[in-house]
Amino acid sequence: MATKAAKTEKYVYSFGGGKADGNESMKNLLGGKGANLAEMAGHKDLKLPVPPGFTVTTEVCTYFYNHKKTYPKDLEKQVKNALAEVEKLMGKKFGDVKDPLLMSVRSGARRSMPGMMDTVLNIGLNDDTVKGLIAKSGDERFAYDAYRRLVMMYADVVIEKAGGMDPAKGKGIRKIMDERLEEVKKTKGVELDTELSADDLKKLVKEFKQLTKKHLKVEFPENPWDQLMGGIGAVFASWNGKRAIEYRRIERIPDEWGTAVNVQAMVFGNMGEDSCTGVAFTRNPGNGDDHFYGEYLINAQGEDVVAGIRTPAPINETSKNDHSKDLLTLEKFMPKQYKELDEYQLRLEKHYKDMQDIEFTIEKGKLFMLQCRVGKRNGVAAVKMAADMYKEKLIDADTAVMRVGPNQLVELLLPMIDPEEEKKNKPVAKGLPAGPGGAVGRVVFTSEEAVEWGLKGEKVILVREETSPEDVDGMHKSQAILTTKGGMTSHAALVARGWGKCCIVGCSDIEIHEKEKYFVTNTGKKIHEGEWLTLNGTKGVVYEGVLELTNSDLNKNESYKTLMKLVDKAKKLGVRTNADTPKDALQATYFGAEGIGLFRTEHMFYGEGSEKPLFLLRKMIMSTTVKERKAALNDLFKFVKKDIKATLEVMHGNPVTIRLLDPPLHEFVPHDKEKLQELAKELGVRMSVLNRRILALHENNPMLGHRGVRLGVSYPEITEMQARAILEAAGELQKEGKKAYPEIMIPVVMGRHELTHQNNIVEKVYAEVLEKLGLKKIDYLYGTMIETPRAALKGDSMAQVADFFSFGTNDLTQMSFGFSRDDIGGFLPKYLDLKLLPEDPFVSIDQTGVGELVRIGVEKGRSVKPKLKVGICGEHGGDPESVKFCHRLGLNYVSCSPFRVPIARLAAAQAAIEEK
Ligand code: PEP
Ligand code: MG
Repeated sequence: MATKAAKTEKYVYSFGGGKADGNESMKNLLGGKGANLAEMAGHKDLKLPVPPGFTVTTEVCTYFYNHKKTYPKDLEKQVKNALAEVEKLMGKKFGDVKDPLLMSVRSGARRSMPGMMDTVLNIGLNDDTVKGLIAKSGDERFAYDAYRRLVMMYADVVIEKAGGMDPAKGKGIRKIMDERLEEVKKTKGVELDTELSADDLKKLVKEFKQLTKKHLKVEFPENPWDQLMGGIGAVFASWNGKRAIEYRRIERIPDEWGTAVNVQAMVFGNMGEDSCTGVAFTRNPGNGDDHFYGEYLINAQGEDVVAGIRTPAPINETSKNDHSKDLLTLEKFMPKQYKELDEYQLRLEKHYKDMQDIEFTIEKGKLFMLQCRVGKRNGVAAVKMAADMYKEKLIDADTAVMRVGPNQLVELLLPMIDPEEEKKNKPVAKGLPAGPGGAVGRVVFTSEEAVEWGLKGEKVILVREETSPEDVDGMHKSQAILTTKGGMTSHAALVARGWGKCCIVGCSDIEIHEKEKYFVTNTGKKIHEGEWLTLNGTKGVVYEGVLELTNSDLNKNESYKTLMKLVDKAKKLGVRTNADTPKDALQATYFGAEGIGLFRTEHMFYGEGSEKPLFLLRKMIMSTTVKERKAALNDLFKFVKKDIKATLEVMHGNPVTIRLLDPPLHEFVPHDKEKLQELAKELGVRMSVLNRRILALHENNPMLGHRGVRLGVSYPEITEMQARAILEAAGELQKEGKKAYPEIMIPVVMGRHELTHQNNIVEKVYAEVLEKLGLKKIDYLYGTMIETPRAALKGDSMAQVADFFSFGTNDLTQMSFGFSRDDIGGFLPKYLDLKLLPEDPFVSIDQTGVGELVRIGVEKGRSVKPKLKVGICGEHGGDPESVKFCHRLGLNYVSCSPFRVPIARLAAAQAAIEEK
């Protein structure tokens, strides 16, 4: 990269005045923001009024880090030339004392990282140029306000943060200055910054400079050029700031990408009552409705909207909410400019064929477009927009399918507060619905606590006045976020929306007393740290205590149905589910499962209703003679058959893969004395005898021990009983005129001979069942799990006996890595930190290692049986990246837990489209 940057001659790309050096396709080089600024300014269909400027490329960032934080030789010259172009277009000069051009410096990575990196505004102001700004704007107060903001941002971002200074007692220069600002307001007896006079602000500028000198031992640079180069360097430095690194880790953005820097002429939304600034979306990002949606603030700068300090006003009627319903809309306030903005947003959406997030400013009645990018949206909105845009013929079917992230679908399946419960409870507060779904958790007031409690397994709700990028880790660990300030475009809302997290913002009904660790509602109710809250993020209401959550009804969601129709048309991979009960099976069919890929027979020995079968199983395990064991198995048979029959029945002839008993037997041995005594009595043996038998079952390494097919080899009666239960269940259904299609699956196999051994039992039973039921044929398949590396490598010989393979990638991962599936948590975090592993291999399949075993297994198996049916039933079957991998390997299906079925279907469709 470094040498490439050194050879590339163009580091700076200009835009503005109806043309641009770059365009939208150059995101890697110009970052998302820079590429879109170029597109908006220069594309023939757009040519929007963008304040002119230029982008310093991401390659310079890479160079910067590879060369001890220095720049390529030619950079300054290119920046100077680009600046001269801006001067020409604006008719002003940078550093001019009569009419100074002011610049902003902003970050812009390939993918948006909202608020994670730094910005410096109003660059070019000093004690001389400020006079020019006063003369030109005719507003001394405004000019000094701009100046004090520059000093503050510069000291914070460029001198302190980029300079790598560690603030004393954790109190940074920004905080020190903020406190000073508050003091001045207090002595003046005013509440808002805007109530301070020009003189107050002028004094503050001076004081801020002194504070900078005192605390940071560096002078604020008066030279505009030094300010500009300092600002550019600070943005590059912020790429490796703590927040940015943390965000990249969560969002999986590669460290190598680097950021670009956008330098742009300043326009002011705070130049008086005929100026404003706002953020808007071409459609509603909260629910997907096709309405132009946004917020704005009169006489304010962009950062004021995002910071959520004042409640923003709606741009139009459809953007109104409970908090803003009485505020003046932009449409009424400035009809001409609103109409122009509306026309631009339509043009932008048509051009980009996707929902756009727009920042705009109106300076003294003139509209400027500051930014546009593909807007973040929650899962509910993503599905609605994809379906709507497809119906509007704005996008084709494949694009619609690609528009929704598989994990976003989770939000549609999100728990909501049980409507009945909700009716019975009265909200304690109401705010803005920034992130949908229901959430229950205990109140914490700081991000650090959220992390701490979250790590202990506590469910928490982070309650704050507002959030800042420093809070991302705590926000991530929380079930939901509740803020008292801020609007739908505030930091909390943006971040929560990106993650699909339940979030309520602008909840001004409550007041936080952070030190005392409680908040109080407007009815005087106090809620302390650790107390439980329930949030309805879809409506924006807060309840005290724990309310039951339920799941939403997908069948009523027309957009979801439209999208999933397109999904099913596109996908080639089948999607089945792992289910052990008729209830789970039905749930999965509702989510679109095409069969059961894994029915774990041992399920019937755990949980509700398992008392009797478990007792019989224990009796069977503790038997010492075949005769005793057979007797116990005979009793057990009825339960097993009933269990299997019920599930086969609800699946109506769709395949049901039934795995024979897998866990090591000692798992079923009772631990409490009473149960042991009961068992001893039933078996007619003394406790000492029973204890001896239990000892004999003990395993040192149970996962690698006497389990899976080995049980069936040691105790063929177990296989026989299960095969009989399965085949009789299927045969009986057949006789009742119903369809059933069982697939008998043998677990933890290491080679063909084991399979043949078990198959002989199954075939013998099959003949007996046919005779018993008077049938000519029962449809079934006989197959194997591939869970040991050896089995994968012996795929060709296994396929001689098996009709199908199902990769049990949980055990296959465990045995390939030598990591215990139960204890990986002990060292995994360190492995991830040190990047020894890209991610948890039990979550997303290790494509080049374990995945290679799968590939070999499939290839070898199909070399013997070209039509061999192959699936996967480990947890990976519900992970989008793993599903895509399975598609590429040509598997027939993936199988996952019921709630992951829609996600797997979407991922399968996307894999098929990506392949095109
Ligand atoms: C597997 O090992 O991947 C599997 C599905 O079986 P189990 O999780 O039951 O061991
Ligand atoms: Mg397994």
